Amino acid sequence: KVVPLTDLEIASKATMKAIWEIAEKAGIPEEAVEPYGRFKAKIDVSKLPRDSANGKVVLVTAISPTPAGEGKSTVTVGLADALSKLGKKTMIALREPSLGPVMGMKGGATGGGYAQVLPMEEINLHFNGDIHAITTANNALSALIDNHLHQGNALQIDPRRITWKRVLDMNDRALRNITIGLGGPTQGVPRQDGFDITVASEIMAIFCLAISLDDLKERISRIVIGYTYSKEAVTVSDLGVQGALALLLKEAFKPNLVQTIEGTPALIHGGPFANIAHGCNSLIATNTARSLADIVVTEAGFGSDLGAEKFMNIKARQGGFAPNAVVLVATVRALKMHGGVPKGKLAGENVEAVMNGMENLAKHIETILAFGVKPVVALNRFITDSPAELEAIMEWCKTNKVRIALTDVWEHGGEGGVALAQEVLSLLNEPNNFAPLYRVEQSVSDKVGSIVQKVYGGSGVVFTDQALKNLQEIEKNGWDMLPICMAKTQYSFSDNPKLIGRPEGFAITVREIIPKLGAGFLVCLTGDIMTMPGLPKTPAALNMDIDSEGNAIGLM
Ligand code: ADP
Repeated sequence: KVVPLTDLEIASKATMKAIWEIAEKAGIPEEAVEPYGRFKAKIDVSKLPRDSANGKVVLVTAISPTPAGEGKSTVTVGLADALSKLGKKTMIALREPSLGPVMGMKGGATGGGYAQVLPMEEINLHFNGDIHAITTANNALSALIDNHLHQGNALQIDPRRITWKRVLDMNDRALRNITIGLGGPTQGVPRQDGFDITVASEIMAIFCLAISLDDLKERISRIVIGYTYSKEAVTVSDLGVQGALALLLKEAFKPNLVQTIEGTPALIHGGPFANIAHGCNSLIATNTARSLADIVVTEAGFGSDLGAEKFMNIKARQGGFAPNAVVLVATVRALKMHGGVPKGKLAGENVEAVMNGMENLAKHIETILAFGVKPVVALNRFITDSPAELEAIMEWCKTNKVRIALTDVWEHGGEGGVALAQEVLSLLNEPNNFAPLYRVEQSVSDKVGSIVQKVYGGSGVVFTDQALKNLQEIEKNGWDMLPICMAKTQYSFSDNPKLIGRPEGFAITVREIIPKLGAGFLVCLTGDIMTMPGLPKTPAALNMDIDSEGNAIGLM
């Protein structure tokens, strides 16, 4: 039996072009390219020709994730390589991997097989320092708040009502709730604090939605950090540190250019999670790619109920563009799990279970259509899939008039994505009626209700007493005219991760609503979703190593 190479082995055998060659291919003038070593560069967008950004946007999303894996990044990369192969000027816009999942569950987030972005080790580990810069800007604000308390607290900030948390780019449950400032009068003011993971922070959201440095600074100044003793909101502009925080992000804010195994240019920039944040790469990277290429292939995290919903209702709305087509990734293995087969029993052929799982795919298709955008299903083939299982899915799509393409990019790179690329190209020629699902002027409960009913297929929303208190505060301050960023489990349409497939008749419980005025949305926490994840029992880190030549081992 032939053992397939790991993603890391395939990546290390690939020959990369120097990054200036990739920049030239993308039409980026030399003066805008700031190389970080030989194979990575930052792009100074102020030095790009001021062409309008009108490349078409193809959004890659997926069915509800299962431990069996779907392969959105893999399909994103393979589709872009296939479009390049067909002679289309294509660019990729992707999120930067967070070290939390790299060390925890996933081990890497740069695609897989022959559809990867390179250099995979460097992208997966501390990529050009961006996430560290975001962490530092976030924690500089924490330090400035605590210093303000210590130095006399002129703003009369109530230490019990500080909502701004520290962050770290790691899954570290022990830091969720901490006490700081212990040790006596010279050690600061004692108070309860906590850490979130960096990719859930408001600075990350701002970084990904700001369209310029001025916008970045303006958004940072609007962040609410807590409340005074008389319950008035305190913002970063009250502290007067927006300039310093924006300055800390100066280099990070430039998009990063890399390449796929087949040499397609890719911008990888910003990386909010899609369950506890808005789940899309930076708007500046998407806009830059749209100004350089005719087609931009981008990805939003987890299933269409999370990343794609937020891509449409938050990012595309704020960015003022429409996604022109959606690719919905599905796998036989994941459909089988939605059809009731446990992870350990996925190996044998089971057409009936696959068909039972199709209800999950069907709901995601309905959701995308509800936004007025047309989907094509990318059936991401695993070598273990049986022909009968694949055929049953193709047949279902034919009967239900759903576009589908069997996709083999993991095994064959761009060549394996040509059928998908052709479907996408034909979709791009069709009219598109994209519209966000709600208007920001609607009430908060109407906006959340529309997501729950139209996207999740649930029956309604329950707001806890805490959430109702938050809502009152939000309405009193006039912050209710913002889009909603749901924080919900990725595993189910509902807020209960165990309800896979297509649950019905459920209500979503919103337990807290957090205003994020800089990001420009209201975060609704549902179920028991955490903004600082923990590591699993057997973290991916246990398989990682470095050899004496400096080569990475075990990054998947
Ligand atoms: P997602 O973006 O949906 O989280 P990825 O594209 O990162 O998924 O893929 C997750 C893992 O699954 C990667 O290690 C990748 O190599 C593997 N994978 C994806 N597609 C296939 C496939 N068709 N066959 C085998 N492994 C695959």
